[in-house]
Amino acid sequence: MGFPYLISTLLYCFNRRDEVLLLERAREPNRGLWSPPGGKLHTDAGESPHACACREAREELGLDLSPRDLHLVGLVSEHGYEGQAHWLMFLFEVKPRLERLPPPGPEGRFAFFPRTALDGLNLPETDREMIWPLFWRHRGGFFAAHCHVHPDGRRAWLVEETRKRRPAVPDTISSVISPEVPAPTAAGSPAEVPPGPVIDLHSDDHFMTEALRQARRAAAAAEVPVGSVVVHAGRVIARAHNQVELLKDATAHAEMLALTQAQAALGDWRLNDCTLYVTKEPCPMCAGALVQARVGRVVYGAPDPRLGAAGGALNLLQWPDANHRCQITAGVRLEECRRLLLEFFREQRSGKNGEGRADPAGGRPLN
Ligand SMILES: [Zn+2]
Repeated sequence: MGFPYLISTLLYCFNRRDEVLLLERAREPNRGLWSPPGGKLHTDAGESPHACACREAREELGLDLSPRDLHLVGLVSEHGYEGQAHWLMFLFEVKPRLERLPPPGPEGRFAFFPRTALDGLNLPETDREMIWPLFWRHRGGFFAAHCHVHPDGRRAWLVEETRKRRPAVPDTISSVISPEVPAPTAAGSPAEVPPGPVIDLHSDDHFMTEALRQARRAAAAAEVPVGSVVVHAGRVIARAHNQVELLKDATAHAEMLALTQAQAALGDWRLNDCTLYVTKEPCPMCAGALVQARVGRVVYGAPDPRLGAAGGALNLLQWPDANHRCQITAGVRLEECRRLLLEFFREQRSGKNGEGRADPAGGRPLN
């Protein structure tokens, strides 16, 4: 196929509250969808990816950056995108924090979003499916991924390189952008961070519903359906679902991913004032991590008498000699949580999920 081979850069910019800057695209492709700013490399002018990123930052965001201000977090190649082109994308995190929202331009309007708001936005399908999960997982580190788009539109992903983040060093250099424009206020959107629901939604039922929503996303992606959220001061600060298969990482359990997010959101590894909700009793790995992170309270749905480490098989969350013990609430929305798991494994046995493993316990780890 004689598709053109195009190279682009994407800029992942954050403000001081660690909200990410997105552009609601006014032009095709992706018109009406929210994605990071960026643009095509001027290959005929011999432009490098770093030079392209600096130029885009200047033109679109009014930022004066040098290559030192950029961290290359990912390389994504997409073969046969929409049957039109092959893309190679350089994903850069801009290290200086933005102080103001860039003004709208011909490419569209900007807004900052907390990470937890991305779920509710119109995002390009490949961003939602893979690029955002990879970005969050590797922020501060590096990944390379390849997507082969088949003629029928089916996408096959291959994660070729993955390096975990190093400990983040907050970068406080400020960049001034003017003029300041207010965040757009369209429904379902942006960013003057509503402090979030605080009253009456505080019940464990409510937050377990959020965790169940995550678990269903895992099921839809043929992952063992376990979901988790972390709540701090009445607000959800982290949401995650199991991504072991997607990331080819046995540690990518919902609770582990949610913990990392929550620690980043609070800028602290101690989560004493947080409650973690998870649809299934945590395994020993996750229970160990919950204790290490000093999570104040753990609420789970379905028990796991075989391997559960919150009292099911053993109780690591309240290990007598540990220097931290978590409060435990068990059995919240138990039936829904359990049904999701049972249905998933039933379908898997009948082959509907693809590989038709004979025995869930013997095949895939139960998370
Ligand atoms: Zn686990």
